[in-house]
Amino acid sequence: MNAELLITHANLITWEEPNRILEGYALLLRDGLIRELGASPKLETRYPSVERLDARGQYVMPGNICAHTHFYGAFSRGLSIPGAAPDAFPQILKKLWWPLDLALDEEAVRCSALVCLVEAVKHGTTTLFDHHASPNAIPGSLDVIAEAVEQTGLRAVLCYEVTDRNGQAGAKAGIEENVRFLKKICQSSAVSRQGSRLSATFGLHASLTLSDKTLEACREAAPHGTGFHIHVAESEVDQYDSLEKSGSRVVDRLQRFGLLGPDSICVHAVHVDAREVALLAETGTWVTHQPRSNMNNAVGIGEVESMLRAGVRVGLGNDGFSNAMWEEWKTAYLVHKVWRRDPRRMSASDVTQMAVYNNAALAGRFFPGAPLGVIQPGARADLIFVDYHPFTPLTFGNLPWHIIFGFHESMITTTLVAGKVLMKDRQLQVLDEEAIAHRARQAASRVWARYRSNVRD
Ligand SMILES: [Zn+2]
Repeated sequence: MNAELLITHANLITWEEPNRILEGYALLLRDGLIRELGASPKLETRYPSVERLDARGQYVMPGNICAHTHFYGAFSRGLSIPGAAPDAFPQILKKLWWPLDLALDEEAVRCSALVCLVEAVKHGTTTLFDHHASPNAIPGSLDVIAEAVEQTGLRAVLCYEVTDRNGQAGAKAGIEENVRFLKKICQSSAVSRQGSRLSATFGLHASLTLSDKTLEACREAAPHGTGFHIHVAESEVDQYDSLEKSGSRVVDRLQRFGLLGPDSICVHAVHVDAREVALLAETGTWVTHQPRSNMNNAVGIGEVESMLRAGVRVGLGNDGFSNAMWEEWKTAYLVHKVWRRDPRRMSASDVTQMAVYNNAALAGRFFPGAPLGVIQPGARADLIFVDYHPFTPLTFGNLPWHIIFGFHESMITTTLVAGKVLMKDRQLQVLDEEAIAHRARQAASRVWARYRSNVRD
């Protein structure tokens, strides 16, 4: 169990509903949870012998949550794609992601997770939903990532993306890896439900690489109550494929196979129609929005505001872009305006609804037992310190605009998860970044060599 820690002289951003900003406060942490908050002098007097962490007037707020990412994508950084540049999303899959994930071995899986987790600690992202693929190293791959998560001290929800593109044996191995890891998490959670920093979903790549038979097999293999994590209608091609294969649109198809529900995550949902939006809302299925990825892949931008209005719970992910969630906030805020040629689109309040409240509610389903993403007594002590000095008034009402126009991840100085300090005054406390980067570069050169031979196939 963690020792107690008293964070003093903090300006708290609580992310309660409604949000509060409390200046000159202290937080008492014990056993991974926030136990008490109050005026700093009062708590300092009450707990004179508890170890202290002086926030020196910085903003202290819940850590950011990423609702969809791919650690394995780390090795795409700086990678050149041979031949002509991909002209559309299907070619991006065929020329970049599929030859790259085939090139991953166990060491590459471990290194790619570690480098992303180092970045997450530095950029204040304390909970991440990963969606993993390594077709030539499937069995045990989620354990390798879980070990990296345990080592870094962060919180993560893991899954393996099942696909038919590597044959029946590949699909079967993916299903088995999900089931094995889900059962393992379930057993360990039964022992320490509140203390666990790991959780799991059942991963599926996308409708366009999954046959009816495999969808059925996934549904049958998944332990009762399991949610599914799948890319949905990222490009129009996913819809064309689903209509041709099954005569129904993607979300209808997933509904038919019993894959929607309040623990399932449909990633992107850029090209869904009104009936699909209604199905997502009716089933309580989560949608995640990844605007940087949508721009990079040139797939269009989903009707996020309409989905929110229709009652769909939309969260914010990064799809393997940097684990710096305010960058995703800023992109979401800006891209909808230019996409619709209307500066009134995508208010900072909608961005906050997705990135803060919806992401926290989603994460809460996978880490039950104590609230997450909020500062209040009894909530999980996942916190970041932000060294921000506003030169205009900052209130709970205009905070989202301060975050979008003023906050940068470089201002994050300290990161805690479950009450444990992972970074203090910009110094990593648990991880050796230089050693991890060195090891990753060795693995990356081997991955890139294999990628070049795969992409020529
Ligand atoms: Zn993705």
